[in-house]
Amino acid sequence: MPSGFKSELTGCFSTPCADNPTVVMIEAACRHAGLDWRYVNAEVQPEGLAGAVAGARAMGWRGFNLSMPHKVAVIQHLDGLGESARLIGAVNCVVRRGDKLIGENTDGKGFLSSLVPVLEPRGKSVVILGAGGAARAIAVELVLGGIARLSIVNRSLARAEELAAVVRSAAALHGTVVTVAPWRGDCAIPADADVVVNATSIGLGDATARVPVSADTFRAGLVVADVIPNPPRTRFLAEAERAGCTILDGLGMLVGQGVLGIGYWKGLTLPTVAADAEMVTVMRRSLEEVFA
Ligand code: NDP
Repeated sequence: MPSGFKSELTGCFSTPCADNPTVVMIEAACRHAGLDWRYVNAEVQPEGLAGAVAGARAMGWRGFNLSMPHKVAVIQHLDGLGESARLIGAVNCVVRRGDKLIGENTDGKGFLSSLVPVLEPRGKSVVILGAGGAARAIAVELVLGGIARLSIVNRSLARAEELAAVVRSAAALHGTVVTVAPWRGDCAIPADADVVVNATSIGLGDATARVPVSADTFRAGLVVADVIPNPPRTRFLAEAERAGCTILDGLGMLVGQGVLGIGYWKGLTLPTVAADAEMVTVMRRSLEEVFA
């Protein structure tokens, strides 16, 4: 017998929303954890965002995710921001705390949760390909995590410089050296790099798409990560694996941010992914089934 007929509500506002698989993994995790929660994947146009946030507030939603194109625009409708969201300048997860809606950013933390089991980032040298929203979230968390060197490589140099400016104060505090370079032709991975991240949208929905990187600069010992969740096995990762690199797919980042979101919505102030290994497995399996 249910203890009542009221489910707790969460969800995601984006457009287009139909290809967003987050609902599958969150509902799988909730079933697994015995939480009577619903996750509503809602199609919300920019002009409807204020109304959607007001609706979630009025209905007492525990919180909600934001995806394209609302991660920055939502900030004006919130009551405050967590540290990562403030530094990144974008929110992907809103949490109701009392009568306040607070914006958090779990994208970069989700990435870190997949990286840390294979490599502790402190003191390491990282190359990020791309300088958009995903790159920004990852770069901020890596700098906060104390990496020694961050190289941002992007097609638009101006956007790479913008990202470098975003992390500059945190980098000075944590002793991270930040460099930028324009992406022209095939990028050669520097011999002293420990981690390379494809944080561009190349490969989304296309397993044959090529990230312009010299595959002969991949080497054993290098950790190569891709943010692309669908398909999880991108051409970039396949080439890196053939060269003996340790690879991390985009599902790890997606699952990590999902676990953190549920933790926040349950009322935790500092949720971690490591504490919920079983939930990680359930969520990852649900996504693998969807993408099979
Ligand atoms: P943005 O549009 O903000 O940024 C896209 C980036 O990709 C820019 O740096 C852009 O370069 C670069 N880019 C796109 N096409 C090319 C190309 N042909 N050659 C070189 N560079 C290119 O997108 P986001 O950062 O928000 O998202 C990027 C990807 O990350 C998406 O595919 C998304 O699905 C994924 N993502 C995955 C998450 C996960 O949990 N796994 C979470 C969040 C995002 P330029 O600036 O020069 O245009």
